[in-house]
Amino acid sequence: MNKHQIPSHTQLFEIGDIQVTKVVDTLESFSPKALYVDKDRNSFDPHLDWLQPHFLDEAKGMLLSIHTFVLKTKHHTILVDTCVGNHKTDSGFPQWNHREGNYLAELTAAGCRPEDVDFVFCTHMHVDHTGWNTQLKDGRWAPTFPNAKYLFNQREWDCWKDSDNKHDRAVLEQNILPIIEANQVQWVDNAWSIDDQVSLTPTPGHTPGHCSVSLNSGNNSAFITGDMMIHPVQIAEPQWSQSADQDRQLAIQTRSNFVDEHCDRDIMILGSHFNTPTGIYIVEQNGQRRVRF
Ligand SMILES: [Zn+2]
Repeated sequence: MNKHQIPSHTQLFEIGDIQVTKVVDTLESFSPKALYVDKDRNSFDPHLDWLQPHFLDEAKGMLLSIHTFVLKTKHHTILVDTCVGNHKTDSGFPQWNHREGNYLAELTAAGCRPEDVDFVFCTHMHVDHTGWNTQLKDGRWAPTFPNAKYLFNQREWDCWKDSDNKHDRAVLEQNILPIIEANQVQWVDNAWSIDDQVSLTPTPGHTPGHCSVSLNSGNNSAFITGDMMIHPVQIAEPQWSQSADQDRQLAIQTRSNFVDEHCDRDIMILGSHFNTPTGIYIVEQNGQRRVRF
């Protein structure tokens, strides 16, 4: 564990007969200045009572969990997002280069061996959502999940494939291209359903092809955010722009619509970077949007 990391734990959720397991690659405290366009630690002051201690630390640092959701449906084992990975370089974040984390051991301990995975889906092609797509084997990047189809969204691929940014190239060369070369890609579009319980929902703005994931089993539903929203504060403040949002106006519109649509409904929101408890419900209290868990 390096100095940036904070211990975290695997969590289990049940959405009807879908089992959802959160397996953490890294949990870190970030300055809001690094993640939001024009916010600092004091921007959280109106919300400390409901964000601490779970989502903000004592110094008002943002606790950001980088995890995979493992979905076991009636039909399939599906991974949503593959975190940072090990031994990567040029990530743009010093603490994510040359990592040696325990993710694969924790995934296996949670009942999911790499060879068991049927589908891998990355909500978008950023560095912290694609890392464990691959692992270093004999000096080359090889798919971590040998029997999986990796669902790549054509719209997302189109926006990255020709980038000449050094960090984007590193993601492409280490996390994306080896999957294409191994013939393990299934190209999908925004409306894709993996099976009758899991489907993609377009949530553009953060990136053009960004998709969240909807889970449905009987009367039970859940929604995996991806980076449409990186922190629960944005349930109350959907207009807070993330520095990494490519189209900030569209991202705000997508987030605002999402909060409106999911407020006071029996749909669990599984935040792709929310620290434990991670699965929350959006509620209205005295005219303000808050979380319940
Ligand atoms: Zn992210």
